[in-house]
Amino acid sequence: MNLTFLGTGTTVNKRAGASIHVQTDKSMLFDIGPRSVWNMERARITRKSIEAIFVSHGHADHYSDFLIFYFDAVTSDRETHIGVFCPRGLAKSLKAMTEFPINDKAKFGKTIKEVGNEKILVGRTTIIAKEVIHDPEIHANAYRIEYHGKSVVYSGDSVKCKELIEISKGADLAVFEAAHVRSHPKHMTPYEAGEAAQEAGVKKLVLTHLYPDSDEADIVSMAKKKFSGEVIKAEDLMGIEV
Ligand SMILES: [Zn+2]
Ligand SMILES: [Zn+2]
Repeated sequence: MNLTFLGTGTTVNKRAGASIHVQTDKSMLFDIGPRSVWNMERARITRKSIEAIFVSHGHADHYSDFLIFYFDAVTSDRETHIGVFCPRGLAKSLKAMTEFPINDKAKFGKTIKEVGNEKILVGRTTIIAKEVIHDPEIHANAYRIEYHGKSVVYSGDSVKCKELIEISKGADLAVFEAAHVRSHPKHMTPYEAGEAAQEAGVKKLVLTHLYPDSDEADIVSMAKKKFSGEVIKAEDLMGIEV
């Protein structure tokens, strides 16, 4: 499978908000944060090809461009059904983003579904959702993508927790947030991301969702202190084949 990082930052810094395009037998997005739709254009990813969007949680830096994506879909004669999957408590907000004056012009169907700890099949690709610990006010999901014997785990936003380690066991690639360099109650440091990757026995680690403090630090060296495999600092528009 092929990954393209559409957004590796947060809200208003030089990196776009959280978003990864995953190409298997299907074209999918994991999070759709601010400016990710524009980066899809730059990466020449056809928006109409995207059949599923998995949102990690209800912080705007992970889903605000769904409004733009959906508006574009309605106004550009999209015909392909779109499936949106999100953690418990978020479907109402996502649905509200599809309700604007010309939305009745949509030529495609949509489903917006809340998922907890379960398996979802999109074509021949299996996605496993698992609730992780991020913000006590809301639910947050990590997702594991399995296709053709390969596996990728995306943490979304998460602290280092047993749930994240469980879902990441033996994955070929872990895409973990390393939002801040200093210990934070809702996020991982590069050291913690490295520890989680090591404990889960993953083969390779990509660090993403970088706030300016993480962006400016040598986060690869920090993670390598805890993780023996390869570590990559994500960049907007970077591609990885797994
Ligand atoms: Zn968050
Ligand atoms: Zn976030």
